[in-house]
Amino acid sequence: MANIEEYIPLVGQAVIDDLRLLAGRLKGKVIQHINSTSVGGGVAEILNRMIPLLGQLGIDSRWDVIKGGEQFFEVTKKFHNALHGKNTDIRKEDFEIFLETSRKNIEGLNTYGDIVFVHDPQPVALVNKRGANKWIWRCHVDISKPDKRVWEFLMDFIIRYDAAVFSAPSFTHRLAIRQFLISPSIDPLSDKNRELPQEVIDSVLKKYGIKKDKPVITQISRFDRLKDPLGVIQAYRQVKKRIDCQLVLAGGGAADDPEGLQVLEEVRDEACRDNDIHVLLMPQNDMEVNAIQRASDVIVQKSLKEGFGLTVTEALWKAKPVVASSVGGIPLQITNKYSGLLCHSVDGAAFAIKQLLNSPAYARKLGENGREHIRNNFLITRHIKDYMLLFLALYHEEDIIYL
Ligand code: UDP
Repeated sequence: MANIEEYIPLVGQAVIDDLRLLAGRLKGKVIQHINSTSVGGGVAEILNRMIPLLGQLGIDSRWDVIKGGEQFFEVTKKFHNALHGKNTDIRKEDFEIFLETSRKNIEGLNTYGDIVFVHDPQPVALVNKRGANKWIWRCHVDISKPDKRVWEFLMDFIIRYDAAVFSAPSFTHRLAIRQFLISPSIDPLSDKNRELPQEVIDSVLKKYGIKKDKPVITQISRFDRLKDPLGVIQAYRQVKKRIDCQLVLAGGGAADDPEGLQVLEEVRDEACRDNDIHVLLMPQNDMEVNAIQRASDVIVQKSLKEGFGLTVTEALWKAKPVVASSVGGIPLQITNKYSGLLCHSVDGAAFAIKQLLNSPAYARKLGENGREHIRNNFLITRHIKDYMLLFLALYHEEDIIYL
């Protein structure tokens, strides 16, 4: 893990001084994060990097994971899709399964933190055991148009928290509790994002049988319908009619996502007759993801719905030209035609990819602008500062906190 001092060349001394100052005010407080998986997906990605850094600043942060069986995670995946506004068949039994597993976690999981920081809907009901400690619910999902039944069910729990945190202004709702807007971030010094020697990049390409004889278009994502991998293949096919290129669809599963294997099969079926489509089921290997992103000519994120879209942040930080759907937190990261290209359809994605492959200087400029935008807004140091201000705000209901 990088030392906090190593961030100074990237973000400046003043940013690190602010972090130390704020951390001093939180001394002695235990922050307990709770989510539903320690591997896969954006939440685990962030916590894995943030907890050690908070530790270096002297803040005792810990991380617990709730337990749940297959049925529970099938239900929470349905809730996830329904919250994203996807038409989903939710039944009465689903709510019962959710409550039953929640009851077991309430019994089995000790909520010892001075601040209990609960991520996403899966562990939301733990708040039923709240004592005098502070509770935060951190929503990573785009809930701008949620299924009403699921949202109302969850609301009964959410209103028992001290505060709720959302990633983008469009996700907020009228709530009886305090709300904060905090966007996620990436760690520029992690294996996923640090600079890599060319030999490392080449060896990863070799391992996966990708040659650099044609431009590489890549989408890295869990195999999830909301990430629209089949839509990416359709867009690639349109591009391929004009420009000989290859497509990399790389993804792994998250332990709390039961749909992954089925979607992977659909993608493999669709891709099987084209040797220029590489469908990679990657183990959780950050350095390999990094290498593939760096080896790509264009990075795509054609999600139908998205929370924030860390894959976009990662690609922009590597100064890559990105084509991404204008959903969830993606427009916070991409200003169209300035730091990437936004799309709204398969045709739009194909048009944008062709434009970037045909104009390397334009593609390079978008990538450079994207990198600066990420440096200024979406690195982990900004995120840690926002979280510390949030923690302090819980103890200072009315005060303004001065640095
Ligand atoms: N990721 C990964 N391996 C994969 C697929 C995804 O390491 O095979 C990472 C990806 O690099 C990113 C995170 O998982 O850091 C996904 O976060 P994002 O916000 O893009 O989507 P989520 O999966 O949370 O919906």
